[in-house]
Amino acid sequence: MNYQQAYERSICDPAGFWAEQAQAVAWSHPPQQTLDVQADGTHRWFADGRLNTCYLCLDRQVALGRGAQTALIYDSPVTGVQQRFTYQQLLDQVARLAGVLTRLGVGKGDGVVIYMPMVPEAAMAMLACARIGAVHSVVFGGFAANELALRIDDCRPKLLLTASCGVEFDRVIAYKPLVDKAMSLARHAPEQVLVLQRLQALAQLQEGRDLDWQSQLQDAEPVAAVDMASGDPLYVMYTSGTTGKPKGIVRETGGNAVALTFAMGAIYGMRAGDVWWGISDVGWVVGHSLIVYGPLMCGCTSILYEGKPIRTPDAGSYWRVVEQYRVNALFCAPTAMRAIRKEDPEGRLLRNYDLSSLRQLFLAGEKLDSSTHRWLEEQTGKPVHDHWWQTETGWPVTAPCMGLEGSAVRVGSSNRAVPGYHVQVLDEQGELLAAGEQGDIVIALPLPPGCSQTLWGDHPRYLQSYLERYPGYYHTGDGGYLDADGYVHIMGRTDDVINVSGHRLSTGEMEDVVARHADVAECAVIGVSDEIKGEVPLALVVLKDGSTVSVQQLQAQLVAQVRESIGALACLQQVLVVKRLPKTRSGKILRAVLRKIAAQEVFVAPSTIDDPAILEEIAQVLAAR
Ligand code: AMP
Repeated sequence: MNYQQAYERSICDPAGFWAEQAQAVAWSHPPQQTLDVQADGTHRWFADGRLNTCYLCLDRQVALGRGAQTALIYDSPVTGVQQRFTYQQLLDQVARLAGVLTRLGVGKGDGVVIYMPMVPEAAMAMLACARIGAVHSVVFGGFAANELALRIDDCRPKLLLTASCGVEFDRVIAYKPLVDKAMSLARHAPEQVLVLQRLQALAQLQEGRDLDWQSQLQDAEPVAAVDMASGDPLYVMYTSGTTGKPKGIVRETGGNAVALTFAMGAIYGMRAGDVWWGISDVGWVVGHSLIVYGPLMCGCTSILYEGKPIRTPDAGSYWRVVEQYRVNALFCAPTAMRAIRKEDPEGRLLRNYDLSSLRQLFLAGEKLDSSTHRWLEEQTGKPVHDHWWQTETGWPVTAPCMGLEGSAVRVGSSNRAVPGYHVQVLDEQGELLAAGEQGDIVIALPLPPGCSQTLWGDHPRYLQSYLERYPGYYHTGDGGYLDADGYVHIMGRTDDVINVSGHRLSTGEMEDVVARHADVAECAVIGVSDEIKGEVPLALVVLKDGSTVSVQQLQAQLVAQVRESIGALACLQQVLVVKRLPKTRSGKILRAVLRKIAAQEVFVAPSTIDDPAILEEIAQVLAAR
């Protein structure tokens, strides 16, 4: 099957196409039903199918004869540890950890929050939850206590799994105080916390609540994988929406297995036995799909890297890993490559390593600028592919399909729609736009398997966020256009979500934090472009009358406040004091206009603007920054 045939088939006959793809998955009960349309516009895939994701990732691989093959490589330049786990070893450890969870009273359908650094136990924890049907919610270790508490309250977990610390190139971050604070802030804190002690900073365990991971594991009995319905949730992954409340994206078991099996082969061109490196964190969707579930389901060797692109110890670290483990393909975010390029522009470090095993590089998470794209291609001599997806979809929407004869690289585009995704561009009235015309990027329903069909505990918010804007379509929140050959060009978010180093953050959430400052009357946070991070948040602040705070003081306090409330990843870059903010007559701050002014783009002031003169003042302040 070539790309064109697969794509057309997937759009004309989605049920037939995906019924065929589903045959590549080892269901315990193969589905007879493929696609059911629900009255509210959502879809159910493989409704009567039954399976277990952990079984597919481990037991099945061992049964196929891969027991002695390396499943997971843990490479940690920050601690100096390098460790390999065969499929058999990983299965044994996960089955026993699942035994621990069972003994602690966790069962099918229960929530489990995992707040851990990039250690193999984090992947084992995810797989152990999947094994017993518990719904895991991994919270990125860079989030502050407040953010962890928000996610705990939404997920209402029965158990929280954590480690005593995270390790960076220059410091050790104690996790336990953050967990303790989050537990005290949360209204639905779990009764028990399982703590993995790491030697770099041991945690104080709270009597009666905290349990030691290793001692719990010592006498644990392995448990078998339980049978799950296709529609049962495998995990919840929180992502930033346009409000302060994160959205709990729900991933269903069956659709996810079919989608990732298809994606690993058809998109990434990976085969069993290949070495795959998903450079991300288990706290993000990429960590779920491309470090743990996708590669293991397909019998690959997956690398879990606890390090950075630079400073662990230098900008050659990625290439060292590629050489050492004979990596066949990797995924990373453009920001990482920009950081490497800044420190090693001539590729001197890169040339110390043998990259002959590497077939190609895939980049996503934010726009891949053409200069970084070309630099990476020149330096590595390998095809570099931009591709586009979201936490909501769980797997790529547009990508080169390397397993289906591939697609030419077109710099500036994230490639063509992947089979299953009918990507289109609409204007504000919902009319289809022609090639080259810029508008809202949407996906005609049905979404393919694997894409989220609901939000945890809030189905109406799912419908409102994604399906109501354009009936019959999924609203991606990204703007852009399709060119005459069907290549998709993503121009950025059309809502108040920004992308800092590939991390999605809500400006509304940051505004909440900024507005709490005693001297701030009102504020707007927008994303402005940054050479390395892609985008960084900038706050425009109107001070209360009579305020005497200096701008420097205010900036230092707000930067610290945002860091404390949201986490280090939210690095608020600058605070600018303005007299007024541009608003509509109904009082809505015109953030889209502010973004355009900051980017020095042409903009049209909406007819509803209250006082157009403000725009000139703001433009001067932004230009002088
Ligand atoms: P997340 O849900 O955190 O993965 O963020 C998804 C968002 O990141 C998308 O809606 C886009 O705005 C952005 N994004 C992801 N991949 C790309 C890409 N290849 N090009 C441009 N933007 C991207």
